[in-house]
Amino acid sequence: MPLTVPTIGLLHGAQIPVLGLGTAPMNGADTAVAVRAALEVGYRLIDTAEAYHNEAGVGQGLRDSGVKRHEVFITTKFDRKWHSVDGARQAFEYSCRRLGVDYIDLLLIHWPNPGHGQYAEAWKGLARLLDQGAVRAIGTSNFKPAHLDRIIEETGVVPDLNQINLNPYKTRGDSVPYHVDHKIITQCWSPLSPTEILAEPVITELADRYRRTPAQIVLRWQTQLGYVTIPKSSSPQRIRENISIFDFDLTAADLAAISGLDQDGVGVPDSDVVGH
Ligand code: NDP
Repeated sequence: MPLTVPTIGLLHGAQIPVLGLGTAPMNGADTAVAVRAALEVGYRLIDTAEAYHNEAGVGQGLRDSGVKRHEVFITTKFDRKWHSVDGARQAFEYSCRRLGVDYIDLLLIHWPNPGHGQYAEAWKGLARLLDQGAVRAIGTSNFKPAHLDRIIEETGVVPDLNQINLNPYKTRGDSVPYHVDHKIITQCWSPLSPTEILAEPVITELADRYRRTPAQIVLRWQTQLGYVTIPKSSSPQRIRENISIFDFDLTAADLAAISGLDQDGVGVPDSDVVGH
């Protein structure tokens, strides 16, 4: 019997499951196997990107699973070379072809690349795709508040979601309050990495107390804070473990204790400099 993941509503009307499968850095064949295993156990959100070179594997896994296309929320992202209005449309079409689908649930600008200076044009392209019904939701990844301010000012269109590096070491006080103010959903990439997080006494003590694994404690922390999380695993056992978190609740004190592991931004990639 597949498990059910709760969903939350996005600004432009779509519903997104609060937990999904990350697919980087799996190759196409491994991705197909993992996506099928995830869909069979109840996952309904899959995260991929042009840059991962595994979108075809996501499509293969979806078809192999027998789960219907409309039941699955597919996110993909495009690179800097598509940062223009027409480019966003082309990136969308190429991703659809590789995935073997005719629409995308959520399309993201992977990195702002401010040095390239074109992310607002890419955002106009995404807004047009949303208007045309080609995508159900649009968003950004690795955007700082200043980047978000710029695209909102230029278009009046607020992203549904911003996908950022967030875990107990990186609680992202620099971004989360801005997202909350603008009703942008926060999505966590590398939610479990580095894996030293899973050996932190705060986490292992909670795992003992709740009879859960450390990864389950971290993923429950993210989802109880209102975030969407996308742990990657290529192990069927851990894929199942990571989705089995919706039958217990951490207390407010537990949530605060986990947030106390924050390292004040250390290791968060600077998206004014890093990007592709
Ligand atoms: P994760 O934090 O999801 O960690 C993945 C690692 O944790 C793998 O080594 C995995 O090993 C291990 N793991 C998974 N589940 C468990 C568990 N229950 N117990 C112990 N270990 C576990 O890191 P990622 O960097 O992969 O991030 C997740 C996803 O975020 C990516 O796959 C990608 O989709 C997205 N991403 C987005 C970025 C962006 O710029 N927007 C950047 C980086 C990632 P194993 O497979 O053996 O289980």
